[in-house]
Amino acid sequence: MKRPFNFGSGPAMLPLEVLEQARDELIDWRGSGMSVMEMSHRGKEYMGIHARACSGIRELLGIPSDYRVLFMPGGATSQFAMVPMNLFRGKTSADYLDTGVWSARAIDEARKFGRVKVVASSRDGGYSRAPAPDEWKTDRNAAYFHYTPNETIGGVEIFPIPDTGGVPLVADMSSNLLSRPLDVSRFGLIYAGAQKNIGPAGVTIVIARDDLLGKSLRETPTLYDYRLCADGDSMVNTPPTYAIYIAGLVFEYLKAEGGLAVMEGRARQKAGILYDFLDSSDFYETRVARENRSLTNITFRLKDETRNDEFVKAAESRGLLQIRGHRLSGGMRASIYNAMPVEGVRALVDFMKDFEARPGQGVD
Ligand SMILES: *Cc1c(COP(=O)(O)O)cnc(C)c1O
Repeated sequence: MKRPFNFGSGPAMLPLEVLEQARDELIDWRGSGMSVMEMSHRGKEYMGIHARACSGIRELLGIPSDYRVLFMPGGATSQFAMVPMNLFRGKTSADYLDTGVWSARAIDEARKFGRVKVVASSRDGGYSRAPAPDEWKTDRNAAYFHYTPNETIGGVEIFPIPDTGGVPLVADMSSNLLSRPLDVSRFGLIYAGAQKNIGPAGVTIVIARDDLLGKSLRETPTLYDYRLCADGDSMVNTPPTYAIYIAGLVFEYLKAEGGLAVMEGRARQKAGILYDFLDSSDFYETRVARENRSLTNITFRLKDETRNDEFVKAAESRGLLQIRGHRLSGGMRASIYNAMPVEGVRALVDFMKDFEARPGQGVD
């Protein structure tokens, strides 16, 4: 089956193998006579699926035993509120690094719950780089330090894990979790909406160090309390069962492919092809600082932006979908998560060369 290459930032491509397995199991999951969608979340079939999804991500990331894995609904955006509600723990302020649209949204939401100190911001530079650690004004008494290691919209990624001393490090990894191995022990809490690099929309993964839980604000809703979620095995209410099932299949697929080191190799290869081409071009450009070039979301522009619509249309006709940048940043964006094959990136570069070679006409 020939599928187009979908460069959408999320919901994004899933591995074909996973979709095929889900198709084969759609109506009758392994002889149960039921679709996973129809199962009781307390029944033994679903409980097994749930437990395997949990152990699957633990194994992939090598998550230490003092960390809890939570499957929560609401998307990464709901974590913008849950993080301060759960992690202020009686302290007076939290530190936030502002590197793009997503960190700015996290900051605005956190301000509803307590004092936020922005340690540094790259807003004035149009979010084309991340401020370096020596520019951060951090507070040793902060409740936690929040950052967005990969700004999905700007295509700005921070590679070294910040050293925050004793202040718990909190990361929104919605668009780069599972793109490479990760030392989870460096973090207090990691969260990621699934629909970028993990599975379908509807479930958010939270990985939290156990000792940080249990000190939520008094008015925290039951469903927003990490401790209650952890103690209830992510089943305080009905969890997004089908999304968790598909995420579990993705974890199995990633393990079968060789794990996260293999994913990192592929990500570097794919991103390298695209950035090398952009660097060699007089027709396209990327404005992201070299040390912050995202491996998963590559933003670029045509130098002649009057041809943007023509570019997007011509790309679609070649089976290269959703290449337009976010409406807040403009330009183009190629999201190349785990499920994007290297052939997709090669096809994009070939298309970009062809488009450049035929000025004013497009390639239809
Ligand atoms: C997509 C995204 C979000 C928002 O995710 P929702 O699931 O739509 O709430 C937040 N942070 C980052 C880094 C993202 O990429």
